[in-house]
Amino acid sequence: MKLLLFDIDGTLIRSHGAGREILAAALTELFGTAGPIDSYKMSGKIDYRIITDLLTAVGLTHDEIEANLPNVYALMAEKAHTAFPASDMTACPGVQPLLAALNQHEDALLGLVTGNISSTAPLKLAAAGIDPAQFKLGAYGSDAPTRNQLPIIAMQRARALTGRPFTGQNTIVIGDTPADILCARASKATAVAVASGWHAAHTLARYQPDHLLENLNDTAKTLEILLA
Ligand SMILES: [Mg+2]
Repeated sequence: MKLLLFDIDGTLIRSHGAGREILAAALTELFGTAGPIDSYKMSGKIDYRIITDLLTAVGLTHDEIEANLPNVYALMAEKAHTAFPASDMTACPGVQPLLAALNQHEDALLGLVTGNISSTAPLKLAAAGIDPAQFKLGAYGSDAPTRNQLPIIAMQRARALTGRPFTGQNTIVIGDTPADILCARASKATAVAVASGWHAAHTLARYQPDHLLENLNDTAKTLEILLA
């Protein structure tokens, strides 16, 4: 059995800034400011890191930030419930046919490794027309301080769910940023990079993913790579 761990933003969906909007609204409501959020580069970063960076920039201490994280996460989820369905989120090219095909394969276990927190990730997918229930497990931006720790957490959850062992040998991380490739490397998983997000193929190539795709449009070819 293969564990396929998909990133969300730029890989499965395009969110057109809706994630940034709910975070800005939540931080502003709680702290009166969202810090330097307008110029902050979120690509590849997990929510824990983004929130920590933004609040550190406005002078909060590490302890203050840690104490407030549950409130930030709860307010983000609350805002996402109304903001995401009203946004123009869309599935990335080829994603729907690929997921439909993967669902026909009993050997494929679908999961998420994403910087989104666990409460907003399924809302994002649903808003883009992707059924979140297809993904049987996930590791999220609220589970660890860095993305590099997430694939191992997902493998442990996959084992708890199926009773089968998962290691880098039978796990593939699919993502659109250098950070996705690096987190695959950190867990010895196979890295499949897709240039459907913010990063061009030639940029991703520098990080030497095992496979590099322009997009997920070629279902047959992508299946071959993911299930090889
Ligand atoms: Mg991404």
